[in-house]
Amino acid sequence: MPELPEVETIRGDLAQAVVGRIITTVEWLDARIVRGDVRGTDLAARLVGRQGAAVARRGKFLVWRFTSGAGLLLHLGMSGRLTVGSPSGTWPRHTHLVLALSSGTTVQLVDPRRFGRVAWLEPPAEGPGGMGPEPLSPRFTAERLGKILAGRRAPIKAVLLDQRRVAGLGNIYVDEALFRAHLHPARAAGSLATREVGALHRAIRRVLREALADRGTTFLDYRDAYGQVGVHAARLGVYGRAGEPCRRCGTPIVRMVVAARGTHLCARCQPSAGVPETDAETNV
Ligand SMILES: [Zn+2]
Repeated sequence: MPELPEVETIRGDLAQAVVGRIITTVEWLDARIVRGDVRGTDLAARLVGRQGAAVARRGKFLVWRFTSGAGLLLHLGMSGRLTVGSPSGTWPRHTHLVLALSSGTTVQLVDPRRFGRVAWLEPPAEGPGGMGPEPLSPRFTAERLGKILAGRRAPIKAVLLDQRRVAGLGNIYVDEALFRAHLHPARAAGSLATREVGALHRAIRRVLREALADRGTTFLDYRDAYGQVGVHAARLGVYGRAGEPCRRCGTPIVRMVVAARGTHLCARCQPSAGVPETDAETNV
């Protein structure tokens, strides 16, 4: 699933293509991906004639804001791709949305697994509520992270994946941040010392910044809005590297299940001291 660095990369691409441009036609809209009160043909009718004002990101959501104050909320789901391209008249399979712009280009949403979704936003077009802080915002301090983790018995990994606690993190960057911070993913969130919270805070921000500079991580599906891969995979420390040597100590990376998710770690760099026994035994 695209996480913060991937969605932010697409946000920048989309903004370049749509700000100042008018949606001239809704070439195709699959009603099954539409959420909210404004459905199907109503949504299509509202989109036509709108001029793009900005594209914002909140967590893993995009908000295409129009000059009228309304907006279109987009979520790419597990494998959705948002592509800016030239009109061809024929769309690939699993195309769910095609918007033609006054610039002569189109914006297409293609998603084989159809977990992507769109929704109309009334003015002021704000993103989804109920989400935790943006980890790259100045307001996401080590103290704030400490308060988010404090008192929680759930594994750190589960808390960091929860969008209500911190917005935009997913499986890849949580594993990477915990590796960099030398923390075992199954440790209880509330068990971290202040020094460890500080290390985790730095690790989260660093890995996200580096991944942004690399325009994201591509394993299978992810592409930017121009179809290009993100190159951060070459720099990953643990994610997707089971059996390969740790870049720090040479110990083979292991994969286990934490918070019901495949989790990658170095058992030497991320000691299991303090991990509840039942969690430490979920090795697969
Ligand atoms: Zn190691």
